[in-house]
Amino acid sequence: MARLHARSLLASAAVLMLTGGCTAPASAQNRAEAGRTIAAPAAAVPVPSPSAPPPAAVPVSRLWPSKRLYNTDYVDVQAIAERYGLKPVWVTSGRILQLVDGRGRVRLKFEDRDRDFYCDGLRVFMGEPVVIDKGRLHVGKIDVIKTIAPLMRPADFAGQLPAPPRLIVLDPGHGGNDPGNQNAGLRLDEKHMTLDVALRLRKLLETRGYKVLLTRTDDRRVELEERDRIAARAKADLFLSIHFNSLPATAAGRVTGSETYVMTPQFMLSSGTEKKDPMTDVAFPGNRQDLANTVLGYHLHRQLLADLKTSDRGYKRARFVVLRFAECPAALIEAAYLSNNLEARKVATPEYRQRIAGAIAGGIDDYAAALAALHPPASLSVETHASSASSR
Ligand SMILES: [Zn+2]
Repeated sequence: MARLHARSLLASAAVLMLTGGCTAPASAQNRAEAGRTIAAPAAAVPVPSPSAPPPAAVPVSRLWPSKRLYNTDYVDVQAIAERYGLKPVWVTSGRILQLVDGRGRVRLKFEDRDRDFYCDGLRVFMGEPVVIDKGRLHVGKIDVIKTIAPLMRPADFAGQLPAPPRLIVLDPGHGGNDPGNQNAGLRLDEKHMTLDVALRLRKLLETRGYKVLLTRTDDRRVELEERDRIAARAKADLFLSIHFNSLPATAAGRVTGSETYVMTPQFMLSSGTEKKDPMTDVAFPGNRQDLANTVLGYHLHRQLLADLKTSDRGYKRARFVVLRFAECPAALIEAAYLSNNLEARKVATPEYRQRIAGAIAGGIDDYAAALAALHPPASLSVETHASSASSR
């Protein structure tokens, strides 16, 4: 097993903090492009110490001044660059813009009119498309507040993020008379694959010291609403629904890869949704965990892609029933496409399902480490305060 829970959560958390949770390598291309700037050179990336107190509350209007474009509040990307000490660099003038850190690493990459962007190389979906106004790139304000800010610097939200999870509820999708997606040729039912991955994942997580409950441990139907209630009754710290994807025969073709979903924040459009619906403006119970969800989904998706070496179908937002009513941080994973025969053949092997379980466990570990960095034990916190004070 490549990843041991025995490793110090705090040590790895400190690494996460230093790298801002990113492992994006600096390519020669990035360095070459770093010379073409549209702004004054940025300051060095601030590195918060694990025990840094949360910053004083700054009104969102001052933190992220916005303007109305196409009937939506938008933030000039320059404000994002300044807040995180990044340098805006046009890759394609007036169309593709990267925000690069002091070491030449591309932290953020936006393309005009796209609803997805890249955060440390990871494909993340937004509610609103990027727009260019008067030659300047703008990002939807709600996407900045709900997605970009917590991903770029979770320490800014330390007081609003939970402690690392202890009790995890795993939810194997479908079951009983609901087989989920199927690959008829390979006789694969989603419900069996999800249960197998959940059972494997339970073992891995228990070895790491987590308490784990499953919403079902055999081939039975569990109503969607009941799945959240199981987690709520157990007072779970994390809810994770496991699924496998499919596309209709006409579109199935070569599509492969992993998707990770977390609850769509209030007022944001879900991924793949073009306009508002009756749920868009509703604050659901699941929205109380927006910040933690954003951090959780990032680590899960990053680890899935890293371990499975599969295509990045995106870190997305949806108001799925199991996410809408979750009372703890929650995510839903579509690990692979059963509609693609090559990928489905892999899923049919125990080895690949073990890899999926391992990837998810790794993502949970990284999420826990990120939270541990924001909630250091009191004794360590005092020491760190003392050493940082003496170094000034
Ligand atoms: Zn499913």
